Amino acid sequence: MLNRLKNDFRLSIITILGASALLGITPFAAMRFLQGNVVAGLIDTSILLGISSAMAYAWITGDTRRSGMVLAVIACSGAVAVAAVVGEVGLFWLYPCLVTAFFLVSPRIATFLNLASIAAMMVQGDLFQSDVQMWSFAATAIVVSATAYAFAQRSDEQRERLEQLATLDPLTGVKNRRSMDEELNLAAAYAERTGLLYALVMLDIDHFKKVNDEYGHGVGDGVLVDLVTLVQQHTRKSDQLFRYGGEEFVLLLPGVDGDGLTAVMNNLQHIMRKKIKHPGGTISTSFGVALLKHGEGVDSWLKRADTALYEAKETGRDRVVFSDNIPAADKSSPAGSPELTG
Ligand code: GH3
Ligand code: MG
Ligand code: MG
Repeated sequence: MLNRLKNDFRLSIITILGASALLGITPFAAMRFLQGNVVAGLIDTSILLGISSAMAYAWITGDTRRSGMVLAVIACSGAVAVAAVVGEVGLFWLYPCLVTAFFLVSPRIATFLNLASIAAMMVQGDLFQSDVQMWSFAATAIVVSATAYAFAQRSDEQRERLEQLATLDPLTGVKNRRSMDEELNLAAAYAERTGLLYALVMLDIDHFKKVNDEYGHGVGDGVLVDLVTLVQQHTRKSDQLFRYGGEEFVLLLPGVDGDGLTAVMNNLQHIMRKKIKHPGGTISTSFGVALLKHGEGVDSWLKRADTALYEAKETGRDRVVFSDNIPAADKSSPAGSPELTG
């Protein structure tokens, strides 16, 4: 539970806002009923029910986008309704709603919601003792909204940047191993539900250490970047490449079939050997391929691809080795035929 709060920013805002609203509004709801102001009591109770439901929905479904939207609308319209029934106290309640809206919904929607709420307060002329008071309310509410907008925008940018740092490999720009774990789990779950066939390819540059040793780390880095560019150019948009570590990469291919996969792998192997260049010439790559079996876990899937890669290295490098469950297909390839382990 704490982990979810730590990892999901919007869920934490929904929970903090929800919990503090429940604590803050419940005494008022009770007081209104005790004072015999049933309409105001019912409004407060509806706000409380709405907030609790949105919070519960966010926790149960994980859909913080929708519950954030519901919460922002309930909070702003609740403050306007309180103002209409009870009077100027509704104005005070609007301020925290204006601020939190920017953390619950997109800046565009929050801006619209805030302006609409401010206008809805202003059209209730009897809320204000004078025009000066009304325009002071409008000015302060807009200043609060603008400040919240700037703050939310900045924290969004920083969060995005941090997310990039945590998920992307800085040298090549592809996703790192941490993102790979998440994506492979998602793929395995999706395959289980839909029966879609996924292939996992582990690729490792051959004798890469020699490139570093003979021509320097900078040249080695360039080779890694070239490999990523080439793989991305010669695979589909839906295929995902991850840096597994060092000069090892993992390629995740959804919706494959035996013949198509064999053709793609043969093509990649040839392209790598022909096009990855360094001052000493070209360099080859070895591939281990495994199709996800029905009911198989990610660890076992990765291990089979790794075993296939190991076999590709052991049997001479510059080749594609398929794990044991590839559907029958023509697997001939001139310089290092794809092989079948098992
Ligand atoms: P094999 O054909 O068996 O795969 O041999 P190899 O030399 O490619 O494999 P080995 O595991 O012996 O060496 C991997 C090298 O990759 C060692 C390390 O210096 C280099 N390496 C790892 N990460 C980077 C990087 O980010 N940049 C550069 N330039 N080199 C890296
Ligand atoms: Mg290597
Ligand atoms: Mg290696």
